[in-house]
Amino acid sequence: MTTLIPILGDQLSHSLASLRVAPENAIILMMEVATEATYVPHHPQKIALFFSAMRHFAEELRAAGRRVDYIAIDDPENTGDFSGEVTRAAARHRATNIITVAAGEWRVQTSQQTWADATQIPVQILDDDRFLCSINQFMAWAKGRKRMIMEDFYRIMRRQTGLLMDGDQPLGGQWNYDQENRKSVPKGHKFRPPLRFAPDAITAEVIETVAARFGNHFGSLDGFGWAVTREQALAALDDFITHRLAGFGDYQDAMVTGEDVLNHSLLSPALNTGLLLPLEVCQAAEAAYHAGTAPLNAVEGFIRQILGWREYVRGLYWFAGPDYMARNHLGATRPLPALYWGAPTDMLCLSQAVDATRRNAMAHHIQRLMILGNFAMLVGTDPHEVSRWYLAAYADAIEWVEAPNVIGMSQFADGGLMATKPYAAGGAYVNRMSDHCKPCKYDVKQRTGPNACPFNSLYWDFLARHEDTLKNNQRLWRMYDGWRRFAPDEQTRIREQAATFLATLA
Ligand code: FAD
Ligand code: SF4
Repeated sequence: MTTLIPILGDQLSHSLASLRVAPENAIILMMEVATEATYVPHHPQKIALFFSAMRHFAEELRAAGRRVDYIAIDDPENTGDFSGEVTRAAARHRATNIITVAAGEWRVQTSQQTWADATQIPVQILDDDRFLCSINQFMAWAKGRKRMIMEDFYRIMRRQTGLLMDGDQPLGGQWNYDQENRKSVPKGHKFRPPLRFAPDAITAEVIETVAARFGNHFGSLDGFGWAVTREQALAALDDFITHRLAGFGDYQDAMVTGEDVLNHSLLSPALNTGLLLPLEVCQAAEAAYHAGTAPLNAVEGFIRQILGWREYVRGLYWFAGPDYMARNHLGATRPLPALYWGAPTDMLCLSQAVDATRRNAMAHHIQRLMILGNFAMLVGTDPHEVSRWYLAAYADAIEWVEAPNVIGMSQFADGGLMATKPYAAGGAYVNRMSDHCKPCKYDVKQRTGPNACPFNSLYWDFLARHEDTLKNNQRLWRMYDGWRRFAPDEQTRIREQAATFLATLA
C-alpha cells in the first residue's frame, strides 16, 4: 500500500488534515506547475513567495522524516498541470490511493475531481479544517437569509471561539469599536516598518528562476522580504503583535504618501499559504490585550478582520457558486485602464496605490477598495477584468478571498450579496482619509474645469448612469438627493466633464 498525498501551494501547514492521517511511508507530492503560475500573469513576487515557501515546506517535511517527491517548475518532465503531475506520480510510486485536502478554489477542485479517473485509484478529498467556520456551517447560516451581514456572522464566531468574550457578552460591552478607529494620521507621524526577511539560498534560486520565466509579468522582484517558513511567519506575527498592533485601529483607513504599510500586519500572505493559522493569530492578538500591551479597539478591530471578514468571504465564495466570478450586475464593459499596469497617471492617489502594488505585490485595504476598486467601478470597468488584475497583482490573492472582495465588495457586481451598497466615493473621501490631494496635480475641491479632480465628476456620473438600478437602495438615498439638488446645467457640465475624462482613458 502506498498512499500519495498531494499538497498544494496554499496548504503549507504541518497540521494539514491529509498530513495528520498520512501513513508513515506515504509519498508527499508537491508540484510547481505552469498552469497555476500563468492562468493570470501573477506578480513575480507572488510566484516567488509560493515556490520558495513550498520548497522550504518540503525541506521541513523531509527533516521530519517524511518522503517528499517535489516537482520543480523547470523539471523537464513536468507536464505543467496538477492532473498530469498527480497521474505521473501515482504511476512512478505505484500508489494505491490518494488522500488530499479540498483545494481553496473552484478551478482546482474541478481538477482534483478528475484524479480518480486519471489514476484509476481511489481519491479521498478531506475538508480543509484550517478555517474557523466550516463550509457546511456557513451554508447553514446563509441559507434562507435575506441579508448576509458580516457583523451578524462575526458575533456568532466570537461566541463560538470565545475570543474577546466575557461569558456570553463581548469584552468591554461592545462587539465593535470602530467609532474609536479610523483617525487621521498626525503630520510627521513615524510608522515602524514591519519585519522582513532577506532571501536565503533557496529563495535566491527561486527568484532567479522566476525572473527568467516570469520577469515580463507586472511587478518587481527587488526587495523580496516575505516570510517563507513557519519560523519566519511566527517571527513576523510576533513583531506585529509586539510593535504595531497597538496602533492598528487608529489609522486603519488612512493613506499616507510614501507609506506602504502603516500599521497593517502584512500577514495575509502567510495566512493564505497556511504558514500561519487564523486561530493562533487571533489568540496572539487577544493575549496582547490581556497583557495590557494593546488596547481593545485595536485588538477587536484586528480580530474582526480575520475571524469576521476572512471567514465570511470564504463562506460566501463557496455559497455563491462557481458562476460568481462572471457576475456583472451593473453591466460594466470597459477594458481595464492601462494605469493599472503602470501606465503614467497624474492622479496621485492612484499612482501611489499602483506603485506600491508594483514594488511590493501588496497595497492595503483602503487603497484596494477606495482607490483602485472605486476608480475601476466609477469608470465602468468589466468586473471580470478587474478581478483578474487583483488576482495577478497581490501576493495574498487566492480566488476564494479575492473574488468576494473584488466582485462583491469593490465592484458591486454581485448586486448586493456581499455589500449593501456600492463603495463609491468622490475626491472628498480621499482627501479626508489621505494626504495625497494637496500635492496632486488635480484640485479635489473642483467638480468641473481642467484641474478638477476626476473622482468628483466620475462619482456623480456613476450615480446618474445607474440611477434606475440603484435609486431604490436605502443607503444611497442621501447621495441621490445630493445629485438632484444640482441645477440641470450643473448636472450636464458634470456629466460632460466625466465623458471627456472617460474618452481620454479609452
Ligand atoms: P491587515 O489590515 O493587517 O488585516 C489583518 C488580516 O485580516 C489580513 O491579513 C487578512 O487575512 C484579514 N482581512 C482583512 N480584511 C479582509 C477582507 N476584506 N477579506 C478577507 N480577509 C481580510 N485579502 C486577501 O487576503 N487576498 C486578496 O486577494 C484580497 N483582495 C482584496 C481585494 C479588494 C478589492 C479588497 C477591498 C480587499 C482585498 N483583500 C484581500 C482584503 C484585505 O485588503 C487584505 O487582506 C489586506 O489588505 C492584507 O493586508 P494585511 O495582512 O496587512 O491586512
Ligand atoms: Fe486623487 Fe483627486 Fe486627491 Fe488627486 S485630487 S489625489 S486624483 S482624489
